[in-house]
Formats: sequence, structure tokens, C-alpha cells
Amino acid sequence: MISRKLELLAHPERSTVLVVDDDLLNRSIMVDSLQPHYQVIEAESGEQALLLLHRHKPDLVLLDIVMEGISGVEVCRQIKEDPDEEIATIPVLFVTALDDSRQEQLCWEAGGADFIAKPVNVITLQYRVKAHVTLKRQSDVLRRLANLDGLTGLYNRRYFDEQLQRSVRDQANNQQHWSLIMLDVDHFKNYNDRHGHVIGDECLKEVARLMMSSVRRSQDMVARLGGEEFAILLSGTRLDGAERVARSLLNTIRNTAQLSVDNGKGNELNYPFVTVSMGITEILGNGDLAEEDFLKQADEALYQAKGAGRNRICRYAQGLIEEVGDEPV
Ligand code: GH3
Ligand code: MG
Ligand code: MG
Repeated sequence: MISRKLELLAHPERSTVLVVDDDLLNRSIMVDSLQPHYQVIEAESGEQALLLLHRHKPDLVLLDIVMEGISGVEVCRQIKEDPDEEIATIPVLFVTALDDSRQEQLCWEAGGADFIAKPVNVITLQYRVKAHVTLKRQSDVLRRLANLDGLTGLYNRRYFDEQLQRSVRDQANNQQHWSLIMLDVDHFKNYNDRHGHVIGDECLKEVARLMMSSVRRSQDMVARLGGEEFAILLSGTRLDGAERVARSLLNTIRNTAQLSVDNGKGNELNYPFVTVSMGITEILGNGDLAEEDFLKQADEALYQAKGAGRNRICRYAQGLIEEVGDEPV
């Protein structure tokens, strides 16, 4: 395990290929010819392939069609129907001795990307794998870019909406706890008018950076919803946990603002800073509420924080909105 990690560190750009075949000889031929160029993992059954897929998320799967247990076609179908985009977009190349047009049609319909004939021509295998892995890597980059906000590098609204939908489903199906924080910069129009749009942009980037450093879990996500409005989706977190995160973030931003006032010259970025307001809510409804309902709850709480004087947090809980105090109660 450690040597595998070291190897990955030494070759961070190395793509991973999963070879699935119940015949040891076939598998060895493919593994040996790919090993110099890729991180290769092997499975001898469809069941094992599905397990390894979720663990390693390879960049390509070479898949035998006829196997004991789950067939190759079924494995491919399950990959393509996986709710995790990182799994569903893995290209599948069928390795087949079959000369059966009906079977081939089923492979295409299951979402296969291409075929390689058995017995395997090693040169063709290497070139075909290389072509598909390159395409996969390129589309990964494009997909990542399509999910990001250009100014701050945070996730964008489109991706946030998808993740919020997923967390609402997760809460209803698995009873997982999720909380939502909405954040809006205070009087940002004035700030822009006073300091100009370029410094305004720098300020938004700094807010984004402070938000990123306020979350810990890898499943948490920070997004820019648009303009000077942001959101944080916290995994495995109930309302009291979200209050802690929000309170700590509010204080960090306040301190940054205070610093810029204290030294009279602006903070290290050399301009005065801003305060923010937040609205928080827990995703809680067991399927009877939709994404928009939770956005609306957080937004109403945020609106109340603005109305109460800004630079503060309000929470929505069981239909009531109240201010979150400075200290934990
Ligand atoms: P409030 O405290 O009520 O939120 O007041 P506000 O001035 O922050 O809110 P308002 O919605 O009136 O103004 C938002 C301002 O944010 C207007 C716009 O100039 C500025 N803004 C939105 N997007 C950007 C951006 O990408 N860069 C910069 N520099 N400013 C932006
Ligand atoms: Mg604002
Ligand atoms: Mg706004």
C-alpha cells in the first residue's frame, strides 16, 4: 500500500487503468503491456471490478464480456448509471472474442466507448487505451472548469445547485445531516463605489479564501452563488455545528476588517475590508421539502440579519428566525 502511494507520488500524472478478465492469461497479457505506462489494477470478476472501481476511480476500464457472475455488459451498465459523476464518466472498452452483432449492440447500449478484439493485439491495445485515456483526462479538466467560478476559483452556482440537490436527497435517504450557510457582503455597492471594481474583485477573492479556510471536511463545499453572495454546504453537520462555523467565519472577517481600520493604512492587501451577514439552516425534511425550500429558509434568515443591522448571523429553525449570539449558549 505504501509503495503504491510512493509510486503515485513519483508519477502524479499517471493514469489508472482497471483490467477485468476472468482468464488469467488474457489478463496478464493486457496488464504486462500497460504496466510501463499506467497504474494498472486487476479484477477477475464483475463483482470485484465494481468494488475496485469505487475505491480507485480509474481513468479507463478494460472489460471482458463473458464472465461468471455479473457479466461485462451489466458491469458497464452499472458504471454508467452510477450517481457519482466521477464513476459514470469512466470510459469502458470491451475486450471480446465474440463475433455476434446482437451482443455488440448490447455493449454499445450499455454505454461502452469502444471494442478491442481477442486475441489482443498489444500495439492496438496500447494506442486505443492511450487515445481514450487522453480524451477522458481532457474532459475531466473541462468538467472541472465548467463547475468553477472564474474570479474566486470557488464552485459556481450550477455546481452548488447540483450538490444541494444531492445533499437534500442524502438527508432524506440516509438520514445524513447537512447544513447550509448563505453569506452576503455588507454594503458592497458602497465599497465598489469608493474603491473601484478592481479592488472590489480583490476583496471578493479574500472573502472566498477566508471561507475556504473555515471548512474542514472534504465533502464540505464553498460556492459563489453570484455577485457578492456565497454559500457553504456542510456535511455531517447539524444546526449547532453550522452556527460554530458561521460564528468563527464572522469573527475572522470582522478581525480582518478591524485590522484594516486599526493600522489606518488598510490590511496587508492595502485597502479597507468589509463585514458580512449570514443566514443558516439545517437540511431537514425527510423528502417533503425541496432544494428551493432550504435556499429560501437560509435566504430569509440572511435577510433578517441584514435588517437587524448587518455584520451578524441569523438562523432558521422550525419556522422561526432568530439571531445567533456571539458566544455559544
Ligand atoms: P447589502 O448590505 O444590503 O447586501 O448591500 P450591498 O450594497 O452589498 O448589496 P447590493 O445588492 O445593493 O449591491 C451589490 C453590489 O455588488 C453591486 C455590485 O456592484 C457589486 N458586485 C457584484 N458582483 C461583483 C463583482 O464580481 N465584482 C465587484 N467588484 N463587484 C461586484
Ligand atoms: Mg451585499
Ligand atoms: Mg447581494
